[in-house]
Formats: sequence, C-alpha cells, structure tokens
Amino acid sequence: MATTLFKANFTPSSLLTSSSPTFLSTAMASCSSFFHRSPTHFTAQSRSSSSRRPTFHPSFKAFSSQMSVSSAIVAVIPERIGFLGLGIMGTPMAENLIKAGCDVTVWNRTKSKCDLLISLGAKYKSSPEEVAASCDVTFAMLADPESAFDVACGENGAARGMTAGKGYVDVSTVDVDTSKVISARINATGAQFLEAPVSGSKKPAEDGQLIFLTAGDRSLFETVAPMLDIMGKSKFYLGDVGNGAAMKLVVNMIMGSMMASFSEGLLLSEKVGLDPKVLVEVISQGAINAPMFSMKGPSMVQSKYPTAFPLKHQQKDLRLALGLAESVSQPIPIAAAANELYKVAKSNGLSDKDFSAVIEALKAKLQSQSKD
Ligand code: NAP
Repeated sequence: MATTLFKANFTPSSLLTSSSPTFLSTAMASCSSFFHRSPTHFTAQSRSSSSRRPTFHPSFKAFSSQMSVSSAIVAVIPERIGFLGLGIMGTPMAENLIKAGCDVTVWNRTKSKCDLLISLGAKYKSSPEEVAASCDVTFAMLADPESAFDVACGENGAARGMTAGKGYVDVSTVDVDTSKVISARINATGAQFLEAPVSGSKKPAEDGQLIFLTAGDRSLFETVAPMLDIMGKSKFYLGDVGNGAAMKLVVNMIMGSMMASFSEGLLLSEKVGLDPKVLVEVISQGAINAPMFSMKGPSMVQSKYPTAFPLKHQQKDLRLALGLAESVSQPIPIAAAANELYKVAKSNGLSDKDFSAVIEALKAKLQSQSKD
C-alpha cells in the first residue's frame, strides 16, 4: 500500500536548485490525491565518470507529500534506507526519514544512540556492512575523514555490503581526497556514490531545513532527491566527486572566520564599556546581519555554549580548508588565524562545546595578558 509523506517546510527554492526531474514534475502536479509514478526516469545519465557503471535499480516505494489542499508532491523513494552515524546531525536526519514513513535501518558505533530511533520504528544492524547489504541506499553522517573512511572502507565497512544497484550517500564533512577514495571504493563494488555534505546545523536538521551540497553519480542524486527533500530545504548538484566537499569546506571556512571575528567584537565592545547585547542588536539590523550572530550572540554574552556544532568539528573544517587552499597555493590568512584560535580553544578543553565557545580562547588570552 502506498504511504503518504508529509514535509512541513517545503519552499520553492528547492525547485530552483534541484535538477531532479522527479521533483520538478511532481511538485508541479496539482492534485489532492495520491499519484503513483513508475521509476522509469531513474536511469543512469550519460556522464563520463559513471557511464560504464550499471544503472541504479533499487526497489521503490511511492510517497505523496501534501503541502496544501490543492497541491501534492509525489516522490518515489527506495524501499530500504540505511543510516550510519547517529550524532547531533545523523539522529534528527534519520528521524525525519522515519517520521516521513521511510523504512530505515540504523547503525552507530555507540549502540545506545540507536535506541531512540529504534523506538520510533527503525531497524538495527550491528555493522555498516550489514546495513549496506540490507538496504537500497545507505547514508553516512560521520565525524571526520578518518571515521568516514573507516565506516565506508574498513573492516565490516559499508563497501563490503554494497553491490551493483545500491547507492552510498556520504553526508559527512570530509576533504576532497577522502571523498574520492570512498567514491572509488564504493564504485568498485558496482554501487553508486554521492557525496552530500550539509550546510545547516542541529536545528535545521531537526526541522528538515538542511542544504545539501552534492556531487558524484547523477542518477543516484536523482534517486535520493526525495529523501534529500525530506531532510532539507534545498540541494545543489555540483558535478564530479570532490566539488561538494570543497564547497562545504569553503562555506565552513567563512563561517569559522566569521565566528572568530564576532567573538573579538563582542569582547572588544565589553572592554570599551559597551553592552555586547546591544552590539548583537545593532548587528542584527544592519548589512552584516547573519542568523548565526542572532542565534549564538545572546548565549555567548552569557558565556553559554549549548552544542549544536561541536568546536572540534569547526577546527577540523578549518584544517581541511587550509589543506584545500594549499592544494591550489592560495593564501587564506584570515582563516589560518581563526584556525589558531580554535586550536587554542580545543587545548583549553572546549572541543565538545559549541564552536561559539571559541570566544573563551580570546578571554583566556585577555586574562593571561592582564596577569603580565
Ligand atoms: P557528532 O555529534 O560528533 O557525531 C559524530 C558521529 O560520528 C557519531 O555517530 C560518532 O559515533 C561517529 N564516529 C566518530 N568517530 C567514529 C569512528 N572512528 N568510527 C565510527 N563512527 C565514528 O557530529 P555531528 O555534529 O553529528 O557532525 C557529523 C558530521 O557533520 C561532521 O562531519 C560535521 O563536521 C558535519 N556537520 C555538522 C554540523 C553541526 O552543526 N553539528 C553541521 C554541518 C555538518 P559515536 O556516537 O559512537 O561517537
């Protein structure tokens, strides 16, 4: 029987950035009832990197997403979806798939983190290999390049369970080279690979408002588009593997520098006798306004750093962005300076705090100065 899928936060922007024929054609369908579409459009498209690989052909399930009384979005979703890595981001992403009616099988290194999703109906397998073997498409949301590689390519890794007709979607933030190595390993099994790191943090993950920066096998992108639409508000297909990883690192390089600069501003305003809360307000009304400043500023002023994006991951992304810049001999002095600050914050025990805790590294510098 067909399942009806509800996606609360549909925005037309996903149409503009998506090139999925499924999504475009179905989003434009105007109806209030369920449409079943056969998955005939999921054939491999002619691309040099994937044209010799088999067509992606998992089993499918049809979903209808009703956004209003008069319009419906219908999507065809692979029947069995795997999810590896249930941290801050992976858990709400997998939860949204489950809540949308998808058949989800989960695995996490620390098994207890699977409990919530199992209670919501997820199946559990005891290794990435078993998840991949039992699913049509497997998503992975791991901490860093090392864990992304291990889970995909290591002993009992997902690659061992992949075969032609399956897909592997790595949504972790990693460097270009790691993504290419994982892609090659997955493709060697006959399966397809898509890198799809996300822009957006814990709250957008919970709200299904992430932005996917995808690259790799185009037909897999089209197959998983309905799932990306459940978890996110928009998706970009950027071409060859590595482009999604690079785009994500550039975005997070900018973000890390912005947060370091914001921290300096908050402390400087206080030091010269201004109220940093007023600075946050002033910024929120001007041209440099960013949701990040409005969201994090008030808690930073209170020295509170509830973790949405762990500081250790921000430092990892700056480190990887420095490597990316090095690969093309581009100087990135601002990001390099910001990276130093995050390293100090890490060595001060702030790794697992939110990345806005980088302000504490500046405070520590101020304190040590005043002792001199
Ligand atoms: P997290 O809460 O630290 O979760 C990391 C996940 O990776 C956990 O499931 C963890 O398993 C697993 N893991 C770590 N090392 C492992 C290993 N050696 N083998 C197997 N599994 C391992 O991180 P997150 O915030 O969800 O972020 C995940 C990825 O998304 C990172 O690449 C991050 O840069 C990126 N990202 C994060 C945000 C954000 O705002 N949080 C936003 C965009 C992108 P355990 O539970 O067993 O530790």
